[in-house]
Amino acid sequence: MNRARRVALVAALGLALSGCTAGDPDSGVEVLDDTATVALEPVALGELPDLDDPALDASTSRPRRDPVYPAVGHPVLDTLHHDLDLAWDPEQRLLTGRQTVLFRAARDGRQVVLDLSPTLEVSSTRVDGEAVAFDRSGNDLLVRYSVEEGARHALEVEYSGTPRPVPAPTTRGDFSTNGWTTTEAGDTWTMQEPTGAHSWYAVNDQPADKATYDITISVPSPRVGVANGELVSRTDADGVTTTRWVMDRPMASYLATIATGEYAVSEAVSSSSVPLSYWVPVGAEDRVDAEAGLAEADRGLAWLEERLGPYPFDSLGFLFVESQSGMETQGMVTLGMTEYTTSTPVLVHEIAHHWWGNLLGPETWRDLWMNEGMVMYLQGLWQAEEEPYSLEELLDFWAQDEPAMRAESGPPAAYDPATFGEGNAYYSGALMWHEVRELLGDELFWRLVREWPASRPYGTASYDDVVSWWSTEAGRDLAPVFDAWLLGTDSPPR
Ligand SMILES: [Zn+2]
Repeated sequence: MNRARRVALVAALGLALSGCTAGDPDSGVEVLDDTATVALEPVALGELPDLDDPALDASTSRPRRDPVYPAVGHPVLDTLHHDLDLAWDPEQRLLTGRQTVLFRAARDGRQVVLDLSPTLEVSSTRVDGEAVAFDRSGNDLLVRYSVEEGARHALEVEYSGTPRPVPAPTTRGDFSTNGWTTTEAGDTWTMQEPTGAHSWYAVNDQPADKATYDITISVPSPRVGVANGELVSRTDADGVTTTRWVMDRPMASYLATIATGEYAVSEAVSSSSVPLSYWVPVGAEDRVDAEAGLAEADRGLAWLEERLGPYPFDSLGFLFVESQSGMETQGMVTLGMTEYTTSTPVLVHEIAHHWWGNLLGPETWRDLWMNEGMVMYLQGLWQAEEEPYSLEELLDFWAQDEPAMRAESGPPAAYDPATFGEGNAYYSGALMWHEVRELLGDELFWRLVREWPASRPYGTASYDDVVSWWSTEAGRDLAPVFDAWLLGTDSPPR
């Protein structure tokens, strides 16, 4: 995710980010027809993998009780694949969902529990094709079905209702809600870090549990649904547009995205052959210049690939929504349309998360610093190369504010749960990585920055995993450095 506070930081350095210029209406933008609204039913298009498909093995996770947000996520369930057939009726504000979750029982259990917001009503649940009873309790959907550790099952859930965002556990100003958000016009978007995914589908809503996704969305034309990964089909029939999106690499629930509205898409291919796309709301071309943005995304991606290795996903899209924030949603970055969230440093930030965060992410929310510290450091490095100030000057500036952030929200790896995503996760972590770089020297440091996310591809890591791997690879005990920056009450000297 991105932090708006950096705008003030950049301004304080006397440097304004370049503004957006008007878009070219002829630059590959698709023109959509105006068509009447019709009643909507989900259209099943997904091809479900077999439960014993070895491709599902990559989604095997270590689910657990999250120490920071224990009210969501369940240790019994290891979801492997989500097949979602969704229909959104913008007039009725009605979401209708038909969902199949392929899962593995991570341990024995007398029931299968998923997170699902109570604003969504469940009409039926089936396990392996047989109807089973269910209960609701708060945010839990409890399916009365006993499971044995290691067994795999297919759970089907049918639901409908008007989704609402869940409260965001933060004091930040740029995301006051979390999860599914509906605009006055009936358009929709999501940003759901840390636990907003269950506002629109049934999910084990914790970062430890990754799964692949196949998402089909039907909306009245000329609206269109956009989600993670690759667009594999699009049909426009009887006034309904149906799109199917596939994310075939394991993904944590906080990295899912979905938006509906009238969108124009512009496409390009990066210099490293990654398909790029820009999804801009029709009428917002003056706020987002797709052609310039695609060129900047290519430039940022090339810069990151030089440092981090080949881009680890099949495609990279950018989806623009009415938010004030930005989010590294996997394969399809979700961005607000502010001057800052459309700027190149933000593109670089969210693309960088595709290694640090998406390819390898934290096992629990205790370790958000694992994503944001290095990505903030990379963003700072990019800015220092592009702007008339040095990295040292930028780090000095960050170091001035850092003790106040630590005092306000706690140490980055032991923060107050009510202050998710505050400055401590970003700037303390970035300053720490700079100290590690000084200790290891550039050659070793940058090799490890590149090798760490690839060491557990599409997986997760704990605090201890990070400390142990970095210490082993560096040939020295780095625990005192990590512990001082991440767990200490006082800021280490810079
Ligand atoms: Zn971030």
